[in-house]
Amino acid sequence: MTSMPRFRLHRPTSTADALAALADAPGSRPLAGGTALLVNIRYGLEAPPALVDLSAIPGLDGITVDEDTGALVLGASVTLARLAADPLVLDGWPVLARAAACVAGPTHREAATVAGNLCQDTRCVFVNQSEWWRAANGFCMKAGGETCHVVPKSDRCHAAYAGDLAPALLVLGASVEVLDGHGSRRHPLLDLFRADGRAHLALAPGALVTAVIVPPMHGAVAGYAKVRVRESIDFPLAGVAGLVRRDGDRMADVRIALTGVASAPVPVPGLDGLIGQPWAELAAANVSEAVGKVCIPLRTTAASPRYRRAVAMGSAVRLLGDLWSEAGSEESPV
Ligand SMILES: Cc1cc2nc3c(=O)[nH]c(=O)nc-3n(C[C@H](O)[C@H](O)[C@H](O)COP(=O)(O)OP(=O)(O)OC[C@H]3O[C@@H](n4cnc5c(N)ncnc54)[C@H](O)[C@@H]3O)c2cc1C
Repeated sequence: MTSMPRFRLHRPTSTADALAALADAPGSRPLAGGTALLVNIRYGLEAPPALVDLSAIPGLDGITVDEDTGALVLGASVTLARLAADPLVLDGWPVLARAAACVAGPTHREAATVAGNLCQDTRCVFVNQSEWWRAANGFCMKAGGETCHVVPKSDRCHAAYAGDLAPALLVLGASVEVLDGHGSRRHPLLDLFRADGRAHLALAPGALVTAVIVPPMHGAVAGYAKVRVRESIDFPLAGVAGLVRRDGDRMADVRIALTGVASAPVPVPGLDGLIGQPWAELAAANVSEAVGKVCIPLRTTAASPRYRRAVAMGSAVRLLGDLWSEAGSEESPV
Protein backbone atom coordinates (compact mmCIF):
# COMPACT_ATOMS: atom_id res chain seq x y z
CA MET A 1 0.00 0.00 0.00
CA THR A 2 1.13 3.52 -0.70
CA SER A 3 0.53 6.50 1.55
CA MET A 4 -2.53 8.66 0.84
CA PRO A 5 -1.95 11.04 -2.08
CA ARG A 6 -3.08 14.66 -1.82
CA PHE A 7 -6.72 15.39 -2.65
CA ARG A 8 -9.35 17.95 -1.71
CA LEU A 9 -12.13 16.76 0.58
CA HIS A 10 -15.59 18.34 0.22
CA ARG A 11 -18.40 17.74 2.67
CA PRO A 12 -21.50 19.22 1.05
CA THR A 13 -24.83 19.39 2.86
CA SER A 14 -27.03 19.15 -0.25
CA THR A 15 -27.04 17.04 -3.40
CA ALA A 16 -26.85 20.27 -5.47
CA ASP A 17 -23.59 21.21 -3.73
CA ALA A 18 -22.30 17.64 -4.15
CA LEU A 19 -22.94 17.77 -7.92
CA ALA A 20 -21.23 21.18 -8.09
CA ALA A 21 -18.19 19.88 -6.19
CA LEU A 22 -17.97 16.82 -8.46
CA ALA A 23 -18.21 19.00 -11.57
CA ASP A 24 -15.58 21.39 -10.25
CA ALA A 25 -12.61 19.07 -10.79
CA PRO A 26 -13.01 16.31 -13.43
CA GLY A 27 -12.17 12.90 -11.99
CA SER A 28 -13.47 13.79 -8.52
CA ARG A 29 -15.33 10.95 -6.83
CA PRO A 30 -18.25 10.59 -4.45
CA LEU A 31 -17.12 9.18 -1.10
CA ALA A 32 -19.63 7.10 0.88
CA GLY A 33 -18.30 4.68 3.53
CA GLY A 34 -14.89 4.68 1.84
CA THR A 35 -14.40 0.95 2.47
CA ALA A 36 -13.77 0.26 -1.22
CA LEU A 37 -12.65 3.62 -2.60
CA LEU A 38 -10.02 4.45 0.04
CA VAL A 39 -8.47 1.00 -0.34
CA ASN A 40 -8.15 1.55 -4.10
CA ILE A 41 -6.53 4.93 -3.50
CA ARG A 42 -4.07 3.41 -1.01
CA TYR A 43 -3.19 0.75 -3.62
CA GLY A 44 -2.45 3.51 -6.12
CA LEU A 45 -5.26 2.34 -8.37
CA GLU A 46 -7.01 5.71 -8.37
CA ALA A 47 -5.91 9.27 -7.64
CA PRO A 48 -8.98 11.51 -7.74
CA PRO A 49 -8.25 15.23 -7.35
CA ALA A 50 -11.13 15.57 -4.87
CA LEU A 51 -13.44 13.36 -2.82
CA VAL A 52 -17.00 14.48 -2.18
CA ASP A 53 -18.14 13.00 1.12
CA LEU A 54 -21.90 12.36 0.95
CA SER A 55 -22.40 11.62 4.64
CA ALA A 56 -23.59 15.11 5.65
CA ILE A 57 -26.36 15.28 3.04
CA PRO A 58 -29.73 14.90 4.80
CA GLY A 59 -32.35 12.61 3.29
CA LEU A 60 -30.02 10.06 1.70
CA ASP A 61 -30.22 7.57 4.55
CA GLY A 62 -33.91 6.68 4.63
CA ILE A 63 -35.45 3.22 4.63
CA THR A 64 -39.12 3.70 3.80
CA VAL A 65 -42.02 1.97 2.07
CA ASP A 66 -43.87 3.94 -0.62
CA GLU A 67 -47.50 4.01 0.53
CA ASP A 68 -48.88 4.01 -3.03
CA THR A 69 -46.78 1.26 -4.59
CA GLY A 70 -45.62 -0.75 -1.58
CA ALA A 71 -42.05 -0.44 -2.87
CA LEU A 72 -39.07 -0.27 -0.54
CA VAL A 73 -37.07 2.93 -1.00
CA LEU A 74 -33.47 2.74 0.19
CA GLY A 75 -31.43 5.92 0.39
CA ALA A 76 -27.97 5.76 -1.19
CA SER A 77 -26.26 6.29 2.17
CA VAL A 78 -28.08 3.56 4.12
CA THR A 79 -25.35 1.48 5.72
CA LEU A 80 -25.21 -2.26 5.16
CA ALA A 81 -25.36 -2.84 8.93
CA ARG A 82 -28.71 -1.00 9.01
CA LEU A 83 -29.95 -2.78 5.90
CA ALA A 84 -29.12 -6.14 7.46
CA ALA A 85 -31.03 -5.36 10.66
CA ASP A 86 -33.91 -3.14 9.58
CA PRO A 87 -37.34 -4.58 10.58
CA LEU A 88 -39.05 -3.37 7.36
CA VAL A 89 -36.37 -5.05 5.24
CA LEU A 90 -36.33 -8.24 7.31
CA ASP A 91 -40.10 -8.44 7.09
CA GLY A 92 -40.66 -7.68 3.39
CA TRP A 93 -37.35 -8.18 1.54
CA PRO A 94 -35.25 -10.48 3.78
CA VAL A 95 -32.94 -11.45 0.90
CA LEU A 96 -31.53 -7.91 0.99
CA ALA A 97 -30.70 -8.23 4.67
CA ARG A 98 -29.04 -11.58 3.94
CA ALA A 99 -26.97 -10.19 1.04
CA ALA A 100 -25.95 -7.12 3.09
CA ALA A 101 -24.87 -9.33 5.99
CA CYS A 102 -22.57 -11.25 3.61
CA VAL A 103 -20.53 -8.18 2.68
CA ALA A 104 -17.01 -7.88 4.13
CA GLY A 105 -16.82 -7.83 7.95
CA PRO A 106 -18.99 -6.20 10.67
CA THR A 107 -16.82 -3.08 10.96
CA HIS A 108 -16.93 -2.51 7.19
CA ARG A 109 -20.72 -2.86 7.20
CA GLU A 110 -21.07 -0.11 9.81
CA ALA A 111 -19.62 2.35 7.27
CA ALA A 112 -20.31 0.69 3.90
CA THR A 113 -23.38 1.94 2.06
CA VAL A 114 -25.93 0.69 -0.45
CA ALA A 115 -24.77 2.97 -3.29
CA GLY A 116 -21.09 2.34 -2.51
CA ASN A 117 -21.73 -1.39 -2.71
CA LEU A 118 -23.46 -1.09 -6.07
CA CYS A 119 -20.86 1.30 -7.50
CA GLN A 120 -17.74 -0.43 -6.15
CA ASP A 121 -14.98 -1.03 -8.65
CA THR A 122 -14.37 -4.35 -10.43
CA ARG A 123 -11.68 -6.66 -9.06
CA CYS A 124 -8.96 -8.90 -10.47
CA VAL A 125 -6.06 -10.91 -9.13
CA PHE A 126 -3.80 -8.83 -11.41
CA VAL A 127 -5.19 -5.52 -10.10
CA ASN A 128 -5.87 -5.70 -6.36
CA GLN A 129 -2.19 -5.89 -5.54
CA SER A 130 0.43 -3.48 -4.33
CA GLU A 131 1.93 -1.09 -6.84
CA TRP A 132 5.30 -2.88 -6.86
CA TRP A 133 3.56 -6.21 -7.57
CA ARG A 134 1.68 -4.67 -10.49
CA ALA A 135 4.83 -2.94 -11.75
CA ALA A 136 6.69 -6.25 -11.69
CA ASN A 137 3.99 -7.61 -14.03
CA GLY A 138 4.16 -4.62 -16.37
CA PHE A 139 0.89 -3.29 -14.94
CA CYS A 140 -2.36 -4.12 -16.79
CA MET A 141 -5.00 -2.45 -18.88
CA LYS A 142 -7.09 -1.47 -15.83
CA ALA A 143 -4.32 0.55 -14.19
CA GLY A 144 -1.32 1.93 -16.00
CA GLY A 145 -0.69 -0.86 -18.55
CA GLU A 146 -1.93 -1.90 -21.95
CA THR A 147 -2.63 -5.63 -21.73
CA CYS A 148 -5.38 -7.53 -19.95
CA HIS A 149 -3.35 -10.32 -18.31
CA VAL A 150 -6.53 -12.38 -17.95
CA VAL A 151 -7.23 -12.38 -21.70
CA PRO A 152 -4.06 -10.94 -23.28
CA LYS A 153 -5.53 -10.66 -26.79
CA SER A 154 -8.67 -8.85 -25.59
CA ASP A 155 -9.23 -5.16 -26.24
CA ARG A 156 -11.18 -4.83 -22.98
CA CYS A 157 -10.50 -5.37 -19.30
CA HIS A 158 -12.05 -8.50 -17.78
CA ALA A 159 -11.87 -7.56 -14.07
CA ALA A 160 -14.94 -8.98 -12.31
CA TYR A 161 -17.75 -7.18 -10.52
CA ALA A 162 -18.11 -8.67 -7.05
CA GLY A 163 -20.83 -6.66 -5.28
CA ASP A 164 -23.14 -8.80 -3.16
CA LEU A 165 -26.24 -6.57 -3.22
CA ALA A 166 -26.64 -6.26 -7.00
CA PRO A 167 -27.77 -9.85 -7.78
CA ALA A 168 -30.30 -9.81 -4.94
CA LEU A 169 -31.65 -6.45 -6.13
CA LEU A 170 -31.75 -7.71 -9.73
CA VAL A 171 -33.97 -10.70 -8.97
CA LEU A 172 -36.28 -8.35 -7.08
CA GLY A 173 -36.59 -6.10 -10.15
CA ALA A 174 -35.04 -3.04 -8.45
CA SER A 175 -34.37 0.29 -10.08
CA VAL A 176 -32.03 3.16 -9.17
CA GLU A 177 -32.54 6.92 -8.97
CA VAL A 178 -29.68 8.75 -10.61
CA LEU A 179 -29.11 12.48 -10.17
CA ASP A 180 -26.94 14.58 -12.45
CA GLY A 181 -26.87 18.15 -13.76
CA HIS A 182 -29.97 17.43 -15.89
CA GLY A 183 -32.09 16.24 -12.97
CA SER A 184 -33.17 12.94 -11.45
CA ARG A 185 -34.12 9.83 -13.45
CA ARG A 186 -35.07 6.29 -12.58
CA HIS A 187 -33.43 3.36 -14.43
CA PRO A 188 -33.67 -0.42 -14.12
CA LEU A 189 -30.72 -1.48 -11.96
CA LEU A 190 -29.18 -3.50 -14.77
CA ASP A 191 -28.77 -0.32 -16.83
CA LEU A 192 -26.30 0.94 -14.22
CA PHE A 193 -23.76 -1.65 -15.38
CA ARG A 194 -21.87 -2.53 -18.51
CA ALA A 195 -19.50 -5.38 -19.29
CA ASP A 196 -16.18 -3.57 -19.20
CA GLY A 197 -13.92 -4.10 -16.21
CA ARG A 198 -12.31 -0.68 -16.69
CA ALA A 199 -15.59 1.23 -16.94
CA HIS A 200 -18.28 -1.01 -15.55
CA LEU A 201 -20.70 1.75 -14.56
CA ALA A 202 -22.94 3.50 -17.06
CA LEU A 203 -23.07 6.58 -14.78
CA ALA A 204 -22.10 9.89 -16.37
CA PRO A 205 -19.04 11.45 -14.68
CA GLY A 206 -20.16 13.40 -11.63
CA ALA A 207 -23.58 11.67 -11.41
CA LEU A 208 -24.89 10.31 -8.13
CA VAL A 209 -27.02 7.31 -7.25
CA THR A 210 -29.47 8.74 -4.72
CA ALA A 211 -31.84 5.84 -4.04
CA VAL A 212 -32.70 2.24 -4.84
CA ILE A 213 -36.35 1.29 -5.32
CA VAL A 214 -37.41 -2.32 -4.75
CA PRO A 215 -40.91 -3.53 -5.72
CA PRO A 216 -42.94 -5.57 -3.24
CA MET A 217 -42.37 -9.32 -3.41
CA HIS A 218 -46.05 -10.31 -3.81
CA GLY A 219 -45.65 -13.71 -2.17
CA ALA A 220 -42.36 -14.64 -3.85
CA VAL A 221 -39.42 -15.89 -1.81
CA ALA A 222 -35.83 -15.01 -2.59
CA GLY A 223 -32.38 -16.01 -1.34
CA TYR A 224 -28.68 -15.39 -1.84
CA ALA A 225 -25.92 -17.99 -1.83
CA LYS A 226 -22.32 -16.80 -1.69
CA VAL A 227 -19.20 -18.88 -2.19
CA ARG A 228 -15.97 -17.41 -0.82
CA VAL A 229 -12.62 -18.57 0.46
CA ARG A 230 -13.07 -17.21 4.00
CA GLU A 231 -16.61 -17.31 5.38
CA SER A 232 -15.83 -14.55 7.89
CA ILE A 233 -14.82 -11.89 5.37
CA ASP A 234 -14.36 -12.20 1.65
CA PHE A 235 -15.55 -11.14 -1.76
CA PRO A 236 -17.62 -13.73 -3.64
CA LEU A 237 -15.84 -16.21 -5.90
CA ALA A 238 -19.38 -16.60 -7.18
CA GLY A 239 -22.66 -15.28 -5.78
CA VAL A 240 -26.12 -16.48 -6.80
CA ALA A 241 -29.41 -14.77 -6.03
CA GLY A 242 -32.68 -16.52 -6.79
CA LEU A 243 -36.40 -15.78 -6.60
CA VAL A 244 -39.27 -18.25 -6.77
CA ARG A 245 -43.03 -17.68 -6.77
CA ARG A 246 -45.22 -20.75 -6.51
CA ASP A 247 -48.74 -21.31 -7.65
CA GLY A 248 -49.59 -24.53 -5.81
CA ASP A 249 -47.46 -27.27 -7.33
CA ARG A 250 -46.30 -25.13 -10.25
CA MET A 251 -43.64 -22.50 -10.65
CA ALA A 252 -45.25 -19.10 -11.31
CA ASP A 253 -42.03 -17.07 -11.50
CA VAL A 254 -38.35 -17.90 -11.30
CA ARG A 255 -35.34 -15.59 -11.54
CA ILE A 256 -31.60 -15.95 -11.00
CA ALA A 257 -28.77 -13.42 -11.08
CA LEU A 258 -25.04 -13.88 -10.55
CA THR A 259 -22.15 -11.82 -9.24
CA GLY A 260 -18.39 -12.29 -9.11
CA VAL A 261 -18.18 -14.06 -12.45
CA ALA A 262 -18.14 -11.27 -15.06
CA SER A 263 -17.45 -7.54 -15.30
CA ALA A 264 -21.09 -6.78 -14.47
CA PRO A 265 -23.77 -8.67 -12.53
CA VAL A 266 -25.42 -11.29 -14.77
CA PRO A 267 -29.18 -11.96 -14.96
CA VAL A 268 -29.73 -15.56 -16.08
CA PRO A 269 -32.03 -15.86 -19.10
CA GLY A 270 -33.67 -19.03 -20.40
CA LEU A 271 -35.75 -19.85 -17.30
CA ASP A 272 -39.17 -19.25 -18.85
CA GLY A 273 -39.54 -22.94 -19.66
CA LEU A 274 -39.79 -23.60 -15.92
CA ILE A 275 -42.94 -21.52 -15.52
CA GLY A 276 -45.94 -23.80 -15.05
CA GLN A 277 -43.69 -26.74 -14.13
CA PRO A 278 -43.20 -28.33 -10.72
CA TRP A 279 -39.71 -28.26 -9.19
CA ALA A 280 -38.28 -31.64 -10.11
CA GLU A 281 -35.11 -33.21 -11.40
CA LEU A 282 -35.74 -31.86 -14.89
CA ALA A 283 -36.17 -28.30 -13.63
CA ALA A 284 -32.93 -28.62 -11.65
CA ALA A 285 -31.10 -29.74 -14.79
CA ASN A 286 -32.57 -26.79 -16.70
CA VAL A 287 -31.44 -24.35 -14.02
CA SER A 288 -27.95 -25.78 -14.03
CA GLU A 289 -27.78 -25.55 -17.82
CA ALA A 290 -29.16 -21.99 -17.94
CA VAL A 291 -26.60 -20.80 -15.35
CA GLY A 292 -23.77 -22.68 -17.08
CA LYS A 293 -24.55 -20.92 -20.37
CA VAL A 294 -23.96 -17.42 -19.01
CA CYS A 295 -21.55 -18.14 -16.16
CA ILE A 296 -18.15 -18.02 -17.79
CA PRO A 297 -15.73 -16.78 -15.14
CA LEU A 298 -12.16 -15.99 -16.16
CA ARG A 299 -8.87 -16.07 -14.28
CA THR A 300 -9.70 -13.01 -12.11
CA THR A 301 -9.37 -14.74 -8.72
CA ALA A 302 -6.96 -17.22 -7.18
CA ALA A 303 -9.68 -19.90 -7.41
CA SER A 304 -10.00 -21.52 -10.83
CA PRO A 305 -12.69 -20.41 -13.31
CA ARG A 306 -13.79 -24.03 -13.62
CA TYR A 307 -14.44 -24.30 -9.89
CA ARG A 308 -16.32 -20.99 -9.81
CA ARG A 309 -18.56 -22.02 -12.73
CA ALA A 310 -19.31 -25.43 -11.20
CA VAL A 311 -20.02 -23.95 -7.81
CA ALA A 312 -22.32 -21.28 -9.29
CA MET A 313 -24.31 -23.94 -11.15
CA GLY A 314 -24.55 -26.16 -8.07
CA SER A 315 -25.42 -23.25 -5.76
CA ALA A 316 -28.20 -22.11 -8.10
CA VAL A 317 -29.80 -25.55 -8.15
CA ARG A 318 -29.58 -25.94 -4.38
CA LEU A 319 -30.84 -22.40 -3.75
CA LEU A 320 -33.84 -22.79 -6.05
CA GLY A 321 -34.73 -26.15 -4.53
CA ASP A 322 -34.65 -24.55 -1.07
CA LEU A 323 -36.71 -21.57 -2.24
CA TRP A 324 -39.27 -23.92 -3.82
CA SER A 325 -39.72 -25.69 -0.48
CA GLU A 326 -39.83 -22.43 1.44
CA ALA A 327 -42.43 -20.99 -0.95
CA GLY A 328 -44.50 -24.15 -0.48
CA SER A 329 -44.41 -23.91 3.29
CA GLU A 330 -45.39 -20.22 3.15
CA GLU A 331 -48.42 -21.16 1.02
CA SER A 332 -49.69 -23.80 3.47
CA PRO A 333 -52.35 -22.70 5.95
CA VAL A 334 -50.96 -22.12 9.42
C1 LIG B 1 -11.48 -6.47 3.32
C2 LIG B 1 -12.66 -6.11 2.45
C3 LIG B 1 -13.61 -7.06 2.15
C4 LIG B 1 -14.71 -6.72 1.34
N1 LIG B 1 -15.63 -7.68 1.07
C5 LIG B 1 -16.69 -7.38 0.28
C6 LIG B 1 -17.68 -8.37 0.01
O1 LIG B 1 -17.62 -9.50 0.49
N2 LIG B 1 -18.71 -8.04 -0.81
C7 LIG B 1 -18.85 -6.79 -1.34
O2 LIG B 1 -19.81 -6.53 -2.07
N3 LIG B 1 -17.93 -5.82 -1.08
C8 LIG B 1 -16.88 -6.07 -0.28
N4 LIG B 1 -15.94 -5.10 0.00
C9 LIG B 1 -16.03 -3.80 -0.67
C10 LIG B 1 -16.76 -2.71 0.12
O3 LIG B 1 -16.50 -2.78 1.49
C11 LIG B 1 -18.27 -2.77 -0.07
O4 LIG B 1 -18.59 -2.97 -1.42
C12 LIG B 1 -18.98 -1.52 0.41
O5 LIG B 1 -20.38 -1.74 0.34
C13 LIG B 1 -18.66 -0.28 -0.39
O6 LIG B 1 -19.47 0.77 0.10
P1 LIG B 1 -18.85 2.14 0.60
O7 LIG B 1 -20.00 2.98 1.07
O8 LIG B 1 -17.76 1.96 1.57
O9 LIG B 1 -18.31 2.70 -0.80
P2 LIG B 1 -17.10 3.69 -1.09
O10 LIG B 1 -15.81 2.99 -0.87
O11 LIG B 1 -17.29 5.00 -0.42
O12 LIG B 1 -17.35 3.89 -2.66
C14 LIG B 1 -17.25 2.85 -3.57
C15 LIG B 1 -17.46 3.40 -4.98
O13 LIG B 1 -18.80 3.85 -5.13
C16 LIG B 1 -18.82 5.21 -5.53
N5 LIG B 1 -20.00 5.79 -4.87
C17 LIG B 1 -20.29 5.78 -3.55
N6 LIG B 1 -21.49 6.34 -3.34
C18 LIG B 1 -21.96 6.72 -4.54
C19 LIG B 1 -23.17 7.36 -4.98
N7 LIG B 1 -24.14 7.72 -4.12
N8 LIG B 1 -23.33 7.60 -6.30
C20 LIG B 1 -22.37 7.23 -7.19
N9 LIG B 1 -21.21 6.62 -6.84
C21 LIG B 1 -21.02 6.37 -5.52
C22 LIG B 1 -17.50 5.79 -5.04
O14 LIG B 1 -17.12 6.94 -5.79
C23 LIG B 1 -16.59 4.61 -5.29
O15 LIG B 1 -16.21 4.55 -6.63
C24 LIG B 1 -14.84 -5.40 0.83
C25 LIG B 1 -13.87 -4.44 1.14
C26 LIG B 1 -12.81 -4.78 1.94
C27 LIG B 1 -11.78 -3.73 2.27
